[in-house]
Amino acid sequence: MQWTAPSGLQVELRPIRGAELIKLAEEAKGTDMGAIVSIVLSCVTEVLDPGPYKLTAAGRPERSQLLKGDLVAALLHLRAVSMPDGDVYPIDVRCPAGGCAAQFKCDVDLRELPLKTLDQEARDRLVAGLPFQGRAAGKDILFDLQCVAQDARAASWMRTAQRQRQTVIDTYAVQIREVEGLERNVRHVFNWLCDLDLGEIDEVRAVLEAPDCGVDTDVAVTCPQCEWRWTTTLPFGASFFRAHRTKPKRSQETTVP
Ligand SMILES: [Zn+2]
Repeated sequence: MQWTAPSGLQVELRPIRGAELIKLAEEAKGTDMGAIVSIVLSCVTEVLDPGPYKLTAAGRPERSQLLKGDLVAALLHLRAVSMPDGDVYPIDVRCPAGGCAAQFKCDVDLRELPLKTLDQEARDRLVAGLPFQGRAAGKDILFDLQCVAQDARAASWMRTAQRQRQTVIDTYAVQIREVEGLERNVRHVFNWLCDLDLGEIDEVRAVLEAPDCGVDTDVAVTCPQCEWRWTTTLPFGASFFRAHRTKPKRSQETTVP
């Protein structure tokens, strides 16, 4: 079936296969999107419009260029078309309210998640290989949109820094190409980010996200026991392609019974 990614890439996709689910379950861990990238690419049977991507000799988008926003959108779409009732994703949640901690399932309708497409200016920048620019925490910054190429840079940085768990600070440090007045180097950018207060880090996040495309995977949840409301991010673990038994109603939120 034909599918258009948030970046404008237009492809023919086939449904996901059993062997690919096994691969995803075995390899999907942490922030590593390697297995997801391979599965999404293997489900592309034809590219109808390359959007902002350069194509390989095999006529596929260059793996390292793939935007994270397109990958997540592709994964959600593949779930919707590959499984019965695949557009409803049941997630396990635990109420964070003090003294409650109720555990329940919340059905998320993937068709209702807000989608943001890439505008023409951003598309032109990607095609030309130009960085994006913005101003945050009193500095001009140059950056790339979140793409697969940054995974290898992040892994290399984590080895260099001898740290185990990747945080958003590490993710931003490899996504930012240059900060005004700083040497071009991941460690300098990382140290700069570490010295910012949380309000300034939120400014950086807003600047990095402004031109980007993709699906908003933050979901509003209401606890059926204490009515506490909060936002959780869709998990993309091994259970992502697990079927559920009942056909739920179309709603992004749970309702109080
Ligand atoms: Zn609760």
